Amino acid sequence: MNLDGFDNFFPNQVKAIFTDATTDFVLPPQALGLSAEQKKFLRHEYQIDADKIFTIRQVHGNKILTISAGDIPQQEGLIPQADGVVTNVPGVVLSVRTADCLPVFLYDPQKESIGLVHAGWQSSAQKIVKQAIAALKQNYGSCAVDLRVAFGPAIGVCCYEVGAEFATTFPGEVLVMGNKRYLDLPLVNKNQLLSLGVQPANIFDNASCTVCGKGFFSYRRDKEQSGRHLSMMMMETGIRGGKLDARRWG
Ligand SMILES: [Zn+2]
Repeated sequence: MNLDGFDNFFPNQVKAIFTDATTDFVLPPQALGLSAEQKKFLRHEYQIDADKIFTIRQVHGNKILTISAGDIPQQEGLIPQADGVVTNVPGVVLSVRTADCLPVFLYDPQKESIGLVHAGWQSSAQKIVKQAIAALKQNYGSCAVDLRVAFGPAIGVCCYEVGAEFATTFPGEVLVMGNKRYLDLPLVNKNQLLSLGVQPANIFDNASCTVCGKGFFSYRRDKEQSGRHLSMMMMETGIRGGKLDARRWG
């Protein structure tokens, strides 16, 4: 879907996509991968070949997988457990599913590598963005100072009422209003990114709330009936050493 500012935050050759509520990208417990309907939607709406998509089974942890050229196409049924993925292979489509959790898109223009993270409160408490940056650094030599990081839609502080115990886990990011407490999940991740050396100007929060905003799935609002959004990130093929380098974001 089109989100203000989001589509222009990354250079042309880096695609960052967040699907709307027209198609449910839920991954049922026994599913082997994307359904025929989901594949069709991606082909028609985004011209994305399902064979290029890497799927993970998200478990609210902080494990990050590194995706190599040989991991695509992914064998149906072999879906590893993780909550984040990184790659430097053009054409590989990283993906995560969210309803209210925060999708975090990372791009390193210096090392031409990308990462995509599913950051709910549990993964955020386990500092999953720190793990993603560590994976980018370890695999590709990335430096936090070079990274461009965008947040997709997620539950906003406006709608994320939490229990008192959250103030212990996130002392700087729980807003108290009267006798209620609200967690600012994007701020949690922003603060972690800043503490790791990501530059403030290189962090973009589209600031859409999935609960009170229009056109989103929301687990908190719709409970078990809620669908899932699919976030995807990829670098176009031909990105290295070719013409596309001239268009590279500076
Ligand atoms: Zn809201």
